[in-house]
Amino acid sequence: MAEIIRSIRGMNDILPDVTPYWQAVEQTLKDVLSAYGYQEIRFPIVEKTELFCRSIGEVTDIVEKEMYTFADRNGDNLTLRPEGTAGCVRAAMQNGLLNQTQRLWYMGPMFRHERPQKGRYRQFHQIGVEAFGFNGPDIDAEMILMTARLWKQLNLTGLTLQINSLGSTDARLAYRDKLITYFEAHKGELDEDSQRRLHSNPLRILDSKNTAMQALNDAAPKLLDHLDAESKQDFEVLCQTLDAAGLDYEINPRLVRGLDYYGKTVFEWVTNHLGSQGTVCAGGRYDSLVEQLGGRGATAIGFAIGLERLVALLETTESLPEITGIDAYIVAVGEQAAKQSLLLAEQLRDAIPELKLITHCGGGSFKNQFKRADRSGARWTLILGDDEISQQVVGVKIMATGEQETIAWDALANYLNQ
Ligand code: ATP
Ligand code: MG
Repeated sequence: MAEIIRSIRGMNDILPDVTPYWQAVEQTLKDVLSAYGYQEIRFPIVEKTELFCRSIGEVTDIVEKEMYTFADRNGDNLTLRPEGTAGCVRAAMQNGLLNQTQRLWYMGPMFRHERPQKGRYRQFHQIGVEAFGFNGPDIDAEMILMTARLWKQLNLTGLTLQINSLGSTDARLAYRDKLITYFEAHKGELDEDSQRRLHSNPLRILDSKNTAMQALNDAAPKLLDHLDAESKQDFEVLCQTLDAAGLDYEINPRLVRGLDYYGKTVFEWVTNHLGSQGTVCAGGRYDSLVEQLGGRGATAIGFAIGLERLVALLETTESLPEITGIDAYIVAVGEQAAKQSLLLAEQLRDAIPELKLITHCGGGSFKNQFKRADRSGARWTLILGDDEISQQVVGVKIMATGEQETIAWDALANYLNQ
């Protein structure tokens, strides 16, 4: 026998017993986003490598070691998107959307060559949201309130909101020097990753997941104490708005985000129900990115939700959405009945478009077909055999009670509709 070809490590199949939950989650997210005036945008999964290098930043984890990059047949350097913001900005710019304000969302797979583990995969899915042309902090607050509503609509509790401000580029650069001085004075206590980042990306040291680095990071100078006046003012207004809306948050001075394009407001929603991969949603302002990619400056803010982690969190809290099952399953024994079952099914679908109806197909004994009907979770089993054909009726079995009735074909739609 030929050897079975298996999937790529870290790239998961999402099977039919789970996809209903994904669909329900996706639908809820879409409904809330649409209610806030966000519109869907779709753009390619593959982009020129340069787009990601220039936006995400050369010395980030993603660009340094996580991208799926390859030369296509023309020799062009292409990359499977590791995140959505870069492609979204590219598409919005290229199509002239940034001449006015935009509220956009997208959803789909992202690719990062990370070490696969629970909550961390090589192909994973995000729903991403971006708003362009709004200076904030009002839109920052709206976005954060909208994420809170997403959890509410999903019946999710146990998520904590963390916020921080990364300040202006200048403030960040000045702070960067202070941070380097501080960490240099404690060089012996830095782990290997942090040593490597000391001069390339010292802010990222603060984001270290190594608990041995925690005390050192806690005692480091705080960016919030070195903000420029505008960022400070905006952050205060943001906090006041969240306070007024009654939304709890923690100010986390170590929240820096891993991508280079962030400035001013950043936020994450975290949970401790998912082990170490506890960030379900992350985002922030990136006012300089559009210009960096060659566009006329448009301020921007966005966030992304990791759907694998969101679905996993729903599973732990038992607030999984209810999935509506099959309404009816037609069993049909005999050649005539098999044919008639298809015709009857089409008539029922004409009469009741939302009816969830399975015709057995493939023959077999009543006993076997009934087993299938039972497993389908259908509310009614409709029975067609030679007798029913000759009398133009169906047997209707109410699966919950086992009661059985006989209904004429032309009365069946009415019966199922009540
Ligand atoms: P982390 O610190 O966990 O690596 P990140 O800062 O790299 O996250 P972002 O680029 O901000 O993550 O992506 C937003 C969200 O997408 C994350 O909060 C997470 O929920 C999800 N996510 C990121 N990388 C992965 C992955 N490899 N597998 C599954 N989900 C992921
Ligand atoms: Mg990461």
